[in-house]
Order: sequence, then structure tokens, then C-alpha cells
Amino acid sequence: MKKIEFLIVGQGLAGTILAFEMLRNNIDFRIVSSLVKSKASLVAAGMVNPLVFKRLTQSWLVDDLWPVMQKTYSELENILGERFYFKKDILKPLSEDEKLLWQKKQINPEIAKYIVSIDAISKVKHISKAAGYGRVTGSGYLKMNTFLNLAESYFRARNLVIDSTFNFNQINPVDNSFEIENITADKIVFCEGHHVTENPFFPFIKMNPTKGEVLLIHAPELSEEFILNKKVFVLPVGNRRFKVGSTYEWKDLTETTTENGKASIVERLDNLILSDYKIEEQHAGIRPTVSDRRPILGIHPEFKNISIFNGLGTKGIMLAPFFAKEMIRVLTIDNYFTQKEARLDRFLSDAKR
Ligand SMILES: Cc1cc2nc3c(=O)[nH]c(=O)nc-3n(C[C@H](O)[C@H](O)[C@H](O)COP(=O)(O)OP(=O)(O)OC[C@H]3O[C@@H](n4cnc5c(N)ncnc54)[C@H](O)[C@@H]3O)c2cc1C
Repeated sequence: MKKIEFLIVGQGLAGTILAFEMLRNNIDFRIVSSLVKSKASLVAAGMVNPLVFKRLTQSWLVDDLWPVMQKTYSELENILGERFYFKKDILKPLSEDEKLLWQKKQINPEIAKYIVSIDAISKVKHISKAAGYGRVTGSGYLKMNTFLNLAESYFRARNLVIDSTFNFNQINPVDNSFEIENITADKIVFCEGHHVTENPFFPFIKMNPTKGEVLLIHAPELSEEFILNKKVFVLPVGNRRFKVGSTYEWKDLTETTTENGKASIVERLDNLILSDYKIEEQHAGIRPTVSDRRPILGIHPEFKNISIFNGLGTKGIMLAPFFAKEMIRVLTIDNYFTQKEARLDRFLSDAKR
């Protein structure tokens, strides 16, 4: 029996980035990767946007998250030998009211640093007429499938992957170790995405999983210079292909695509672009969103050998690198307190903390 320190359950974005942080910190681990449980990460469009367009505010913690994100994906590109993070500005057609809001907010340096310009005329052809066109910088996209596949090969080449669906009946945390195949681990970190709702150790977490659907279209005439955004995003991914999305659905949490989902995206897309396109693919997945829309990091209140890294929600690409580093601190420094909003103990009553 080989003895190691950690099992990571799940090789989605959360488990993968955490695994690289463990490697960097010389922590001995294996990833338990299920061939049957779905991965939201493989469905994600992959977009990063430093702003929230609804009220034109900064995305939560963006000034802290953004530099760590850039550095981490760039370092991982060097390790894995291929590019998968790309900077790309967003071009957003604005209504008259939105234009006024954007002009007003441009006075605020916290917002202004992400706004390149507000133009009267669109910089690209084939998009709908608008009162103005806001151009946002600091945005971009992660080719998630490329990244996760390269990462998986990297881990497999080092014998760090155990192909298994983790079975909760197998474990007894009071034994102080976890056995799987020929491995014994002292501790376990659950990175199961929305499947955490089936985990008996965390019934107190208030998850609010959100189904999302995206389309892949081929639009030969559409410019690939910008990510377009107006009630729907149109994200160029190469070869005149664009990811278009998405939808937000809380009742139907099946992972199958729907005609309603497609129709909703198509309606918004037709209001944004004027060029011909063909739908090539449609995908659906479940985002691991939390009721308060913040990530979850922490050690189980009763079983100190069980911990969780989850809740990446709709912004996993930006959140994962910063919070994986925080998670390492949570795991290795006694009584380390990460951001209040992200701590697991926010779900516990004062008496149980
Ligand atoms: C339609 C859609 C569009 C999105 N677009 C964006 C976007 O543009 N930008 C952005 O930042 N985010 C986006 N997201 C969100 C993003 O996908 C998530 O934040 C992120 O991928 C979550 O990663 P995760 O590792 O927590 O979960 P997942 O990717 O779901 O990974 C969980 C892993 O745990 C494994 N697992 C679960 N249970 C077990 C078990 N018992 N044993 C073994 N393994 C197990 C699963 O097999 C899976 O590999 C989108 C999501 C969707 C659905």
C-alpha cells in the first residue's frame, strides 16, 4: 500500500488547478477522476470579463484575481507546452441609456482602466446598430478543453490519476486515512463541482446549481477581432467558429440540451449579429453556483482530514488560480483564514464553528 498525503476528488478546473498548486508546493497527491460524472468545465465557454455589465461594476475581487490568473495560465502554458489563454477585448453595442451609464462610470478610475473607448461607430461589420459601442480590455478566454486535456496527459504521465468514481460508502473519516486502489491518503479534498450536492459530508452548503447551454456556430463573415456581447456573448475560438451563450436555468438540472435553450440563444444572437451562420454544436452543463455566488474553501468542521474547494460558479476561470493558492494555505497553515466571503464556515451557525 502506497501512502500519500492528499486525494483530490475531481479533475475539472478546480481539481486541476489545485493539483498544479500541490505540485508547486511539493505536496504528494493523486487525483481521483470519474469517467462517468460530468464536468461543467468541458462545457464552459471559457470567457473572462473583468466587468459586470448589468450596473457596470467591477467583477468581485477582480484586482486581486486578475494578475494571479494571468500569471498562472501563462506559467501553465510553459509547463504544458501550448497556448490556451488568449487576451481579447470585448465589443459591446450600447443602448442610449447604457451609453450614458458608461460615460458616467468612465470617471471612476476603477472602471475606466477596463474601458478602452466608447465609440459612435462600430469597429467591426455585421453587428447591429447601437447608440454606441463600448470596448472593454482585460477580457479574454481560456480554451478549457485544450488546457484540461493537456493537464490530464501531464498528470497521467506522472501516475497521478486514479480512474474511479469516489464512493462515499467506502470511507470512514474517523479511521484517519482513505483507501482507494493501492493508495492510502491521510486527507481528501473534494473538487466535485455541482456533484457536491450528493456528498454526505457537506449537506449544510447552500448550493444553487445552474444549468447552462452554449452553441458553437460557424459564421464565415463575422470578424474574430473581438468578443461581442449584448445579452449574449459571441466568442471567437478560431477558424470562424464562435461559442455563443448562454442560458441560466435552475429548475431543469438535467445535462441534456433543449430546444428552448437553443431558441433563447438564437433569438438574442439574431439581435446582435447580421451575418449568416450555421449552428454546428449545442452543449449543456451544470455550473457549481452557490446561493451567495461565492467560492467555497475550507476544512470540514468535524473531520479535519476532509476539505472542499468548490463554488466556482459562473466565473471559474478567473477565480480558480487565486483561490487554489488560498486553498493550499488553508490546507497547510494552521487556522489560516481566507476571504470571509469564501470560507466554508459561513454556512455554519455560530455554535458549530
Ligand atoms: C454553459 C456554461 C458556460 C460557462 N461559461 C463560463 C465562462 O465563460 N467563463 C467561466 O469562467 N466559467 C464558465 N462556466 C463555469 C465553469 O464551467 C465552472 O466555474 C468550472 O468549470 C467549475 O469547475 P469545477 O472543477 O468546480 O467543476 P467540474 O468541471 O464540474 O468538475 C467536477 C469534477 O468532479 C468529478 N467528480 C464529481 N464527483 C466525483 C466522484 N464521486 N468521484 C470522482 N470524480 C468526481 C467530475 O467527474 C468532474 O471531473 C460555464 C459553465 C457552463 C455550464
